[in-house]
Order: sequence, then structure tokens, then C-alpha cells
Amino acid sequence: SQMVYYFGKTKTEGADASKSILGGKGVNLAEMTRIGLPVPPGFTITTECCDAYYKAGKKLPAGLMNDVNAAVKTLEKELDKKFGDDSNPLLVSVRSGAAVSMPGMMNTILNLGLNDAATEGLAKATKNERFAYDAYRRLINMFGDVVMGMDHHAFETAFDKVKKKYKVTEDTEVPAEGLKQLCEDYKDLYKKVNGSEFPQDPIKQLELSIMAVFGSWNTSRAVRYREIEGIRGLLGTAVNVQSMVYGNMGDDSGTGVAFTRNPNTGENKFFGEFLINAQGEDVVAGIRTPQPVAEMPKWNRAVHKELLDIKKTLEDHYKEMQDIEFTIERGTLYMLQTRTGKRTGVAAVKTACDMVKEGLITEKEAVMRVPANDLTQLLLPSFKPTARNAADVLCRGLPASPGAAVGKLVFSAPEAREAAEAGLKVILVRKETSPEDVDGMNAAAGILTSTGGMTSHAAVVARGWGKCCVAGAGEVEIDEKGKKIKVAGRTFTGKDIISLDGTTGEVMSGEVETQEPKLSGDFAKLMKWADGFRTLGVRTNADSPADAKRAHEFGAQGIGLCRTEHMFFEADRIIHMRAMILASTEKDRRAALKKLLPFQRKDFEGIFKAMDGLPVTVRLLDPPLHEFLPHDPESQKAMAKELGVKPADIVKRAEALHESNPMLGHRGCRLSVTYPEILEMQVRAIVEAAISCAGKKIKAMPEIMIPLVGTAAELSMLRAKVEATIKETVEAKSFAGKLDISIGTMIEIPRAALTADKVAEHADFFSFGTNDLTQMTFGYSRDDINTFLPDYLSQDILHVDPFQSLDQEGVGQLVEMGVQKGRSTKSKLKIGICGEHGGDPASVDFCHRVGLDYVSCSPFRVPIARLAAAQAAL
Ligand code: ADP
Ligand code: MG
Ligand code: MG
Repeated sequence: SQMVYYFGKTKTEGADASKSILGGKGVNLAEMTRIGLPVPPGFTITTECCDAYYKAGKKLPAGLMNDVNAAVKTLEKELDKKFGDDSNPLLVSVRSGAAVSMPGMMNTILNLGLNDAATEGLAKATKNERFAYDAYRRLINMFGDVVMGMDHHAFETAFDKVKKKYKVTEDTEVPAEGLKQLCEDYKDLYKKVNGSEFPQDPIKQLELSIMAVFGSWNTSRAVRYREIEGIRGLLGTAVNVQSMVYGNMGDDSGTGVAFTRNPNTGENKFFGEFLINAQGEDVVAGIRTPQPVAEMPKWNRAVHKELLDIKKTLEDHYKEMQDIEFTIERGTLYMLQTRTGKRTGVAAVKTACDMVKEGLITEKEAVMRVPANDLTQLLLPSFKPTARNAADVLCRGLPASPGAAVGKLVFSAPEAREAAEAGLKVILVRKETSPEDVDGMNAAAGILTSTGGMTSHAAVVARGWGKCCVAGAGEVEIDEKGKKIKVAGRTFTGKDIISLDGTTGEVMSGEVETQEPKLSGDFAKLMKWADGFRTLGVRTNADSPADAKRAHEFGAQGIGLCRTEHMFFEADRIIHMRAMILASTEKDRRAALKKLLPFQRKDFEGIFKAMDGLPVTVRLLDPPLHEFLPHDPESQKAMAKELGVKPADIVKRAEALHESNPMLGHRGCRLSVTYPEILEMQVRAIVEAAISCAGKKIKAMPEIMIPLVGTAAELSMLRAKVEATIKETVEAKSFAGKLDISIGTMIEIPRAALTADKVAEHADFFSFGTNDLTQMTFGYSRDDINTFLPDYLSQDILHVDPFQSLDQEGVGQLVEMGVQKGRSTKSKLKIGICGEHGGDPASVDFCHRVGLDYVSCSPFRVPIARLAAAQAAL
């Protein structure tokens, strides 16, 4: 197949060649040439050649250099210059460019084609000796650096020597003579290090450079980057060889980079910087401070106007915000690169909406264009950019759960709770957190831990709530007893305020000003469009009225998972829960449960009210009972005192409840089989809450969900108990109205999916609990996966964490089977998903394809799921 594609006035090849073959840079250079923009001509060597190079054991494919030679000849003819010529030499840049933009790959080589004779020629042709030798020294330096891997410092030392000799400090002050000398020094250096002369043959320079670009595809930096970004299946990098234009020919020349719109805010205003009398990399390298493009008219009004015209041409053509690189040679503008501009979530939403208004794209395209996950940034409180920039950063931990939090330091869950009750904002600081801390975590504005990773307890719980969390900030020394922390050589106590940025992991001293998220304006508009396209319902996982309310504001169409266990952890309830667990007779258990009932009923009333007229799936108690007992002697003693029992009784009970595999043990519906009184209390609370709502003209639509069912028999038996309790409660309350209560199950044990046709006989609905389903299908303990997951990812055994994005190939089969078998029994069976996956765009797409009715996710992911569901439908 064709190895080299030319772009220029003579011809522009590859109109239908894709990025995967020409790379992003190559495709767009050709495209810009085709639509008439001023692009210096050149040619692109395909990624297939890179692939062939590696397959042949790092040898260029046969015939490639012939084709390169031919393309150079065409260039020479088009520009009326000659490679290596001593009167008017052709110079080129050699640029890498894969299908996706990738930092870590080869640096660009500029001015290639210069040798001793050509430098003389360039000096003659431009009547500028200084410029010519400046270009030559840059080439030897870059070539040595990039192609031969020479140490950068040696070149700098040599340059410093010359500067000293001429008693100047700036590169630009060194006269032609000095640069001429420098070129000689550089060549000597080159020979000393490499054992060979700097290649004088331009074609040889080109050949070595092409091999260096191919070689850069597999540097450890580049490989690592692809790994982190999950970039797979590319052939390699393309090589762009492009004739040079010079931004460093004097004060009428320059170079710059720009975005066609503001990439931070999305404002439709050309946004960029330029530098007068400079070449390419100088802008990025920060050698001098560039000026904003808005200042350009003062320098060259015509060029500025031309850039604005090009902005329009590019956006009309690509119908996307572009990120461009340009150079001005003696007042003439040249385009060197364009690509889709990276932008913040805020800018993504604004540009999409603006472009609909401007008639550039349709509403459908706008919905397709915003990456669903980027909405995260619009859904969290954030720091005001100006305040952030000025902040006093103490250290950086893991960005475990995004958002911004400000508050006084507290060192325990009870302290956090007290402070919150008193209306204070606090940051809970712990080495790590455990389930006993959850109410304190909930009460805190943010959470800071010094150990633990991205999937530590603190991180997972915080993310679920959309609460800001910085985890594993190892530099923070916590003195829990002394109630102080030491970080960056400073000490902070409970009197001090700190600010956490969960998006960057930064810990800052003092109060940094924040701003609240709002679902309004363009964001609301985009969501409305998305709702018009999607067929999949979006519910939320919520177990408090506050979460339910927030999710409703974010557009949740009900609750897909209301976990009831969290409701028992609050201080005034856990005591009854523990009394229930300690009880040795059914009578005592019932007595304790009776005390829990009013709490539970009140919770449900609040939630039903927040979700008036929308379904609320309540899951009966799920975790093993031991999770509710304290395990350290201190807390056990305190509990014994509170309950008026001996500490030994508690130790004994905790030991009795100990299981080798609690996740596969006495939990879920198994609890209801052995302790039906728990189920009865919960169902009573639900029904009484629904009846009370009815009295207040609130339409409660509870769906009672039985967890961890593996056999139809379990569900059949427990369903009967639920139905009996409903009936009993309605009769006891002499309620005459109509209650809308359905009974269903979670499908989270593989056996339930395999026998879904039988299970469906007793279910009004299914909800896939894909957390447990993943755990049991892979046999990976969710709580321990971090011991081996990093190795599995780095060795490419797994591509993503299967608890974050649904394993469609394996676990997905069980979901599909569950849907198909379930509906073979009941064609209208309502089916949803309530695992963490419900808010992951790729998983949402899968759910759409297998015909689920809805997904359910944490409140802060509801807009993301709405958008992802629309994208799945389009
Ligand atoms: P990167 O991918 O790192 O942006 P590029 O290949 O775009 O690298 O090159 C970096 C810079 O080098 C460009 O922005 C441009 O300013 C300069 N450059 C590249 N090719 C040429 C050329 N043919 N003429 C003038 N400058 C060039
Ligand atoms: Mg570039
Ligand atoms: Mg489960």
C-alpha cells in the first residue's frame, strides 16, 4: 500500500485516508491544504510503515526511502529550492504524529537539510548570515538530542562559553561570528560523543530522523502514556516531513498557538498567544513571555484579520473548536497544525450549545459531542480559579473524589457529627476510614486521609456521595490524640481551616473561596435535548431524603436502590441495631426492632416525599450483621456499658458472628430466612410510611427488593412473607386506599441469572446488582482487588477495573441472559441496574443495548447517565 502521501499545490493525496494511517497531524495538514489554507507543503509517511519497521526488526520497509526521495523531488520543484543546495536550500521539519495526540513521543526536528554548504546557501538566499547559522546550530543541537540521544547539557555549556566570550546573556545577542563558531563547536561535540561526523547528506539526516520518530513510539514514556490512557490497537506513529517557514527572521516574523474559542469557558472568542521573532518551540518552552493574540493588531493588523478569517474557515469546515499552531514569516501567515481543542466540561457544554445556535451543528450532534464523564466538572462545588491560583498549597494526595471542601480540622467521626449539627463546616482527618466512620464522613464537608488509595474505604464512600476526598496524603502526619497534623513543616490544629481540592488532590492552608454547581443555562438545555433522545430511564441510588432531593433536581426518575443499612449507623439507632444483634431470643430481637421501626418509617416518609409519584426501590437489609458491631476493645466496652451487658458478651457475640467469607456468608436474603422479624419490621416501616404519605396526598411508589437471591425458592418464600406483612399492616392501619407496592429481586448471584426464568415467576422486577455479580463472576473480592489489580492492568490482563466499567464480555453475558430468561417468563418484566456501573457511560451504553428499562447511579452521576443514555440511543 501507499507509504508516502504528499500535501501541497502540486497535489494533495489521501482525501479518504484516515487518522489511523496518516496520524492526526498528517490528516489535518492535508485537509487544511485541501480547503485552501496556507500550509507549507510536505508529505506524510504512514503509520503502517512504523508497524512494518518494528515487524522487520527496526528496519525501514523496502522502497520507503525511494518514495521519500521522490516526494522530496516534488517539494523541490514546487518550492524551487534544493535539498542541501549552496544557494537556495530546501529545509524541512520532521514531526511525529499518531492517531491520537501523545506527549512523550519524539520532539520535532526543525531546519533539517542544513549542512555546511547549505548554511552558506541559506545565508545568501536570506541575506542574513546570523539567521542561517542560528538555524544550523539549532539543527545540530536538536538532531544530537533527539536522534542521537546526546546529553542536552553539553550543548548548553558550549553555548554559554560563546556567550561569555561575547559578554552577552541572551541567545539573540550572540553575533553571526559567534554562532558560526558555535556550529563548529557543536560539530566537534557531536563527533566526540557519536564517533562520527554530523551527517552532511540531507537524505541521510532525513532517514535517521524517520527512524528516530518510529523509535520514539516505543520509548517507555510513550508506552506508559498509552497504558494510562487506555490507548490500544494503533499501528504506530506517522512521520510528517514539512518544508520550513521561519518565524525567527526578524521583527516582522513570529509564531503562535491559539484556540478558536476559549477552552476554559467556551466563550466564542479567539484565544491564544504569539511571540515575535521566534521559532516553533519557543512559545511552549517559555523562553520568553508571549503576548495574547488580542494584542496582535498593534503589531500586524492584516495577519490578525487573516487569523480570524481562518478561525471561521476552520470551524465551518470541522464544525468543532480547533487548537492551532501558526507561524508568520516576514508578514506572511502559515498554518502548521490544527486539531480538535481539548476543553473543560464547562467549555464543552457551552461550545456545543453555541454551535447549535450558530447553525454549525444539530442538537443531536451537540448531545453526541460532550463527553458524558466531563459533566462531573459541572456538578461539583469548585474553587474560584483566581482564589485557587493564589492558594497556599501544603501537599498533594490522591484526587480520590472530586470537588472542593473548606473547613476546620476534626479528628473523629463523632466530632465531625457534633460540628455539623452545630452548623460548622469541617474536614474529617483520619489515617484511614472504616464503616464506623460513615456518619462522620457524611457530616464532614470533606475527607482527608493519610493512607489508602483510590479505592480505599474513604475514596469509595466519598465518591458515592459526591463528597470531596483527598486520600493517601502521606506527607500529612496525623496526631489523633493531640488533635493536630503536621505538614510541610507546619502544624495545624482543630482551630485551623484547610481547603481540599478533590479534583487535583491538593491540600491548602486557609479558606479558599468556592462556587456551587447549578443545573441551569446551557447545561439544562443540553440535558433537555438528551432527554428527548434517550429511551433508557435514569434513577438514582439514594438512602436519605437529602440525596433523593438532590438527585431529583438532577433529573432522577426515581430511586433504583435505597440501601437500608446506612440508616442504622446513626448514633441514636445503632444502639437498637446492636441490641437486636445481641438478642438471643426472637422476643428480644422483636423488642429491639420495634425501636428501630419509627426511625425507618420516618426515613422512608422523607424519601417518598422527595420522590413523590416516582418509584423508590427499597432493598431489605443486606450486609452481614457483624458489620454493625464494634471490633476494638474500647468501643466494645462502651457499647457494653450503654446496653447494660458484660463486655465479654459482646466479644462472644462478635466471635460467633465471625465468618471466613462474610461476603459469601450470612447476608442478604439469608438474613431474612433466619430472622424473618427483620424483614417484617422493614416491610411494615415501608407500608406505614406509604400509608402516611397517602394521607398527605403524596404518592409513594415503593418497590420492595430482596437482595442476594440465588434460587427461585428463596424468593418465593420471602415474597410470601412480604405480601403477608403488607396485608397485615394495611389491615392494622385499616387503610382503605390503594397502595402501589411491587416486589422484586436483585440479580447479583450468577445462579439467579442462570435461572432467571424461574426467579421471574416470583418477581415484579429485576435489578442487576452488578457489584456483587462482578465479584462472584470473576471471583475477585471487591475489597481486596487492589492487591493485584495494578499488576493485572499493567500486564494488560485486564484493560479496566471491572468494578468501574462493566465487563461486557463475561458479566455482560449473565446480564443478557438474565434479561432474556426473565422476560421469557414475564414479557413486561421491569429491569434495571443498580451497581456502581449505572453511572459509567460505557456500561450505560451496554444497558441500553441489552434492553434494560433504567439505570440507577449516585445522585451526582445522574446527569452523566442521562447524557450517556442519549448517546447510546443515537
Ligand atoms: P508537537 O506535536 O509537540 O506540537 P510539532 O510537530 O507540532 O510538535 O512541532 C512543534 C512546533 O515546531 C510547531 O508548533 C511549529 O511551531 C514548529 N514547526 C514544526 N514544523 C515547522 C515548519 N515546517 N516550519 C516552521 N515551524 C515548524
Ligand atoms: Mg504541535
Ligand atoms: Mg449486593
